[in-house]
Amino acid sequence: MENIKKGGISVDSEHLFPIIKKWLYSDKDIFLREIVSNASDAITKLKRLSSLGEISLPDEDFRIDVVLDAEAKTLTVTDNGIGMTAEELEKYICNIALSGAVDFIKKYEKDESGKPQEGIIGHFGLGFYSAFMIADRVAVETKSYTGAPAVRWICDSEGEYEQFESEREERGTSVVMYVPDEEAELLHAHKIREILDKYCMFMAVPIFFSEVCHCDEEKEDGEHEHHHDPEQINDTTPLWMKQPSECTEDEYKEFYKKVFGDYKDPLFWVHINAEYPLNFKGVIYFPRLNPDFEPVEGQIKLYYNQVFVADNIKEVIPEYLLMLRGVLDCPELPLNVSRSYLQNNGYVTKIASHIAKKVADKLNGLMNTEREKYEKLYPDIRIFVEYGCLRDKKFYDRVKGSVLFTSAVSGKSLTADEYLEAAKEKNENKIYYVTDRKAQAQYISMYEAEGIDLIVLERPLDVQFISVIESDKSDVKFVRVDADVADALKSGEEAPESEQIVAMFKKISGSESLEVAFAALKDKKTPAVITEDEQQRRFGDMMKMYSLGEQPMPAAIKLVVNTGSALYGKVRSLEEAGRTELAEKVCKRIYSLALIAHRQLTAEELKEFLEESYDLLLDVDE
Ligand code: ADP
Repeated sequence: MENIKKGGISVDSEHLFPIIKKWLYSDKDIFLREIVSNASDAITKLKRLSSLGEISLPDEDFRIDVVLDAEAKTLTVTDNGIGMTAEELEKYICNIALSGAVDFIKKYEKDESGKPQEGIIGHFGLGFYSAFMIADRVAVETKSYTGAPAVRWICDSEGEYEQFESEREERGTSVVMYVPDEEAELLHAHKIREILDKYCMFMAVPIFFSEVCHCDEEKEDGEHEHHHDPEQINDTTPLWMKQPSECTEDEYKEFYKKVFGDYKDPLFWVHINAEYPLNFKGVIYFPRLNPDFEPVEGQIKLYYNQVFVADNIKEVIPEYLLMLRGVLDCPELPLNVSRSYLQNNGYVTKIASHIAKKVADKLNGLMNTEREKYEKLYPDIRIFVEYGCLRDKKFYDRVKGSVLFTSAVSGKSLTADEYLEAAKEKNENKIYYVTDRKAQAQYISMYEAEGIDLIVLERPLDVQFISVIESDKSDVKFVRVDADVADALKSGEEAPESEQIVAMFKKISGSESLEVAFAALKDKKTPAVITEDEQQRRFGDMMKMYSLGEQPMPAAIKLVVNTGSALYGKVRSLEEAGRTELAEKVCKRIYSLALIAHRQLTAEELKEFLEESYDLLLDVDE
């Protein structure tokens, strides 16, 4: 064959090629996405010419073939698209006519953190050259739809190329990548299949993968090689490209299971079809999780015109939505997006808030029209909703009517407003809650006895979340059962204070600063309860959670003596009879019992409590 041209890639190539290799190394699998995307673009261009009436195409199937030949150590991508003439090849491939790109590359070879910059290749149309990340030679054989003579071009990793005339008859382009031994991994079919599945699974043109087999048997027949039957690897009309009305429930579930490898059905989903100017599509799924065991981490896959770009791009998707799973196709974003580009991008901000709005609408829709179903699945989405509200005030404003709590008394679900409405007479604007049904059992039974409902906030996030509601409804307070003695628990009788008793409890507790109060409760049994200031406790919990502060803060506790209780009456009469020593012993026990109902005793406290109880029992009159 006559060599019609010889040359060197025409920008300072000695400099450029090593950089391409080095830079993209962190994600070199994208070379295949780049080459297959070019093939797909070539087909799209041809179709467009046909639809514009500029050419008339024979009736044929458009396709891309990816062929692996492990023995020849080549990977070939062939399309039957628009092809290139010799001039076009020269113009588009040989000239990386991008002095700007080279300057840029020299200047920003590394970002501030020393890591290679992401996305540079795509920004400057170097997609084709990403093949040199994995190949030491790349050949292109192409024939233009115009009928111009076919050309073959081959380029080594130094950027030196030669161009020949070619015998190729079929319209379209083949890109042959010669894989060196260092990249031998790419000569395994499963590896190529994996890359294709990741990046090309939903591309719009059918993609076939096959492996050339050099079997001995075939050789006897005089044939040297044959292809395993090419297998189509992609689904050219993924669910998100369809209208929601065209998709069935089973299709949504099946798509979810296939894409996310989950065996469980999703809870529900939101199909987004945002038109101009946002122009993006997607399906967001709520996975069925077991929040107690599984780490809460979803997967949002970003596509560009059906080409996979990346997972979980934090810059595009609000952080709390990353707990969900789904696909988003944003053709308005460049295929190779750099993170810094996305960070301050107005379009991206709009996408994010559109998604959040659609998700909120879905939750409200379920709450308003399928409340029973919504209540059932709420435990699974609770973390998501609360975290979203904590992170995004706008999201909270949208979903606040659909935030549910569980009653510790009836086990039923209710909203904050429903609670407040029902509690209007007994505890106006106060929502009582429990964080530990076992440890707070004594308090719970006192509230229950008075018909005061309590909600369960068992996770640390729950308690952080209520502050969002409090700052929204400024007159509403969430109060833990042990933070306060509700007025409704009091009998209304007088509760005379006694200085001697106060002094006695201070002495017993070993703390002069112990606050002692008196209240006549309806409950006649419980002699005293300990309360702990709500705000201080929350602050202490937060410090603990973030492990701030060396020493845990001393709890701001108060002992509320129940002047209506029988035991308190007994203490008073012992005192009056001058039996101060015994009165003190009883008070000590009252204090310890209140402490036990409030929190776990320390080992020291427990030991002392047991010993003193034995002694006290000895005092029982026979
Ligand atoms: P980009 O695709 O971003 O323009 P590339 O370096 O990947 O940059 O490709 C440069 C150009 O080469 C393309 O714009 C296209 O004109 C041409 N090209 C690449 N691959 C093909 C192909 N398979 N068929 C036809 N033209 C191609």
